[in-house]
Amino acid sequence: MTSPEEPFDCEVAVVGGGPAGLTGAIYLARFKRSVRVLDAGCSRAVKIPRSHNMPGYPQGVVGAELVAAMRAQAERYGARVQNTHVQRLQRIEGGFALHPDDGGEPLRSRLVLLATGASDNEPAMPHLAEAVREGVLRYCPVCDGFEVIGCSVGIVTDGPRGVREALYLRHFTDRLTVYFTQPVEVTEEDRRRLAAQGIGMQPAPVRALRLREGGGARVEYDSGSDEHDSLYGALGLRVHSVLATALGAEHDEDGYLVTDARQQTSIEGLYAAGDVAQSLNQITVATGGAAIAAAAMHRVLGLPG
Ligand SMILES: Cc1cc2nc3c(=O)[nH]c(=O)nc-3n(C[C@H](O)[C@H](O)[C@H](O)COP(=O)(O)OP(=O)(O)OC[C@H]3O[C@@H](n4cnc5c(N)ncnc54)[C@H](O)[C@@H]3O)c2cc1C
Repeated sequence: MTSPEEPFDCEVAVVGGGPAGLTGAIYLARFKRSVRVLDAGCSRAVKIPRSHNMPGYPQGVVGAELVAAMRAQAERYGARVQNTHVQRLQRIEGGFALHPDDGGEPLRSRLVLLATGASDNEPAMPHLAEAVREGVLRYCPVCDGFEVIGCSVGIVTDGPRGVREALYLRHFTDRLTVYFTQPVEVTEEDRRRLAAQGIGMQPAPVRALRLREGGGARVEYDSGSDEHDSLYGALGLRVHSVLATALGAEHDEDGYLVTDARQQTSIEGLYAAGDVAQSLNQITVATGGAAIAAAAMHRVLGLPG
């Protein structure tokens, strides 16, 4: 509740309860700052069956367990995490108002950490969640290229980014084929680069992707079908930056928010970390950015009074 004397509900509002937002909340709560986390509950990290590149977990860690542990750690130090989708961010005197989409009272905060992440554009595939859980459908060669060393892999794409992803994966396996979800004009240069690396390309658009009994997946197209151990979706990401861009925050051509070295966006008092601001899309990058943002916000908030 706000009053005329204290117009703010908290010092920092964090939007997003994935690795970036929860790391920000842990740091800020331990800096004795009042912090509220508003989270719509769709973290990409929760979809990770088991991450093997998270430092400190030699056996890997299940994404949902990691996020739950981060949340427990934030709450232990007094951060309040609530299940809310923020629809609009508004500048107010000395801070921000965060409007929930249920029409409830806005939350007023001096500073905001935007940690709203991004979402993968998913291929049309029955049993998609199961395919991701089983590691049959993957999205992130930086995360799990190691897991497909020597495997047969299909890259499902809608354009040239699939060629780039195939060339990236070529370091891990030479059993690669690129598939398109729509008719695509592949440039001579791209054809040459794929051929030079022995990467196959199926020009007929994909008709269906199916889980294969006993593991792997089948890619069906007009003139036939192929089987693979794993598929990579290379269909791009939707960056959840609209709360900031609606206020005029700068972003790059892919939609990622532009921040300074302290993770502040071009809007004073509005910080951003994680997948909404970093195209590498990694947990460690998200947590690192959030730690930098939290330390900067702590300094800006200064001493009491
Ligand atoms: C299948 C898969 C495997 C992966 N494997 C790895 C791996 O092994 N290693 C690795 O480092 N990375 C991996 N990643 C990437 C990793 O999950 C992301 O980089 C990481 O989750 C980014 O953290 P974040 O906090 O920025 O965003 P997220 O974890 O996506 O969290 C963002 C949160 O913000 C919430 N939100 C969005 N908009 C609003 C709003 N308006 N109001 C309130 N809340 C909102 C969302 O609901 C979500 O809970 C993988 C991703 C996928 C999909």
